[in-house]
Amino acid sequence: MKYANNILETIGNTPLVKLNKLTAELPCLVLSKYETFNPGNSVKDRMALQMIEDAEADGRLKPGGTIIEGTSGNTGMGLALAAIIKGYKCIFVMADKQSKEKVDILKAVGAEVVVCPTAVEPDDPRSYYSVSKRLSTEIENSWYVNQYDNPSNAKAHYQSTGPEIWEQTDGKITHFVVGVGTGGTISGVGKYLKEQNPNIKIWGIDTYGSVFKKYHETGIFDENEIYPYVTEGIGEDILPKNVDFSIIDGFTKVTDKDAAVYTQRLSKEEGMFLGNSAGAAIKGVLQLKEHFTKDDVVVVLFHDHGSRYVGKMFNDDWMRKMGYID
Ligand code: PMP
Repeated sequence: MKYANNILETIGNTPLVKLNKLTAELPCLVLSKYETFNPGNSVKDRMALQMIEDAEADGRLKPGGTIIEGTSGNTGMGLALAAIIKGYKCIFVMADKQSKEKVDILKAVGAEVVVCPTAVEPDDPRSYYSVSKRLSTEIENSWYVNQYDNPSNAKAHYQSTGPEIWEQTDGKITHFVVGVGTGGTISGVGKYLKEQNPNIKIWGIDTYGSVFKKYHETGIFDENEIYPYVTEGIGEDILPKNVDFSIIDGFTKVTDKDAAVYTQRLSKEEGMFLGNSAGAAIKGVLQLKEHFTKDDVVVVLFHDHGSRYVGKMFNDDWMRKMGYID
């Protein structure tokens, strides 16, 4: 018999799937690292488990403890699954712009969810960064995960996602394109791939309203770049320690409208029912067209599943209200 001993053993080893229609205008092969095959339906299962296991190993997380994190949902799902199997409690702190589905899903896997305002500065006591930190000092036997600065985040992708992509492409990958939030995915995968072949180009997808692109190009943390935006999962108003700018060759920014429209197009034209950052990522690949030639093998990573966005990017009333479709 062949079976996993628990759901955590099914994390990783996701397929690589070719894009066909949406990328027809590009000269190269475009493959997607399809992370919704993870049990929590996102790439974040990988780093959630790694962060927990590293915290267990060095005593930051103790038996029966409470896991506290500021999460837009996917990291929370990964942490919650691991917490169920390993016997921990979870409290997640989220910004109020996140979709209701994400809150409901976290509650469905037994977590407590605290919702905070989006439109406040990160150091405002009401921000989800501040609230998560405060709860972790108030609640006994608790551990604040801090995925932004926790090195186990990028490490998970260095140890699993990166090697999988290298092996699945027989070392032929020339470009890796991925949305950047905490930076764990791009930094871990990018470091591994560049160690195998320093010529591989690593491109980050950023949002309008986020600091990454300008910082990468100028070294300036420009507060004028920061304003509320709609795209979920990528872009930041802080510089997380997990973003290793030295392995990133460039960023391209995708508008909220394009990210939403391409999220729908991936579903309707490729049968890929995916989250909002996948729409941003594939539109970013198209924006980078001039960087690709016919022998290139471009891998784009799709972070999460469409079910979390049925009330927004997959709801035509919402799309019309936002002015994204006629
Ligand atoms: N897309 C989605 C849907 C996410 O939840 C995240 C994580 N915030 C990202 C992209 C960005 O990944 P990372 O945090 O590894 O940069």
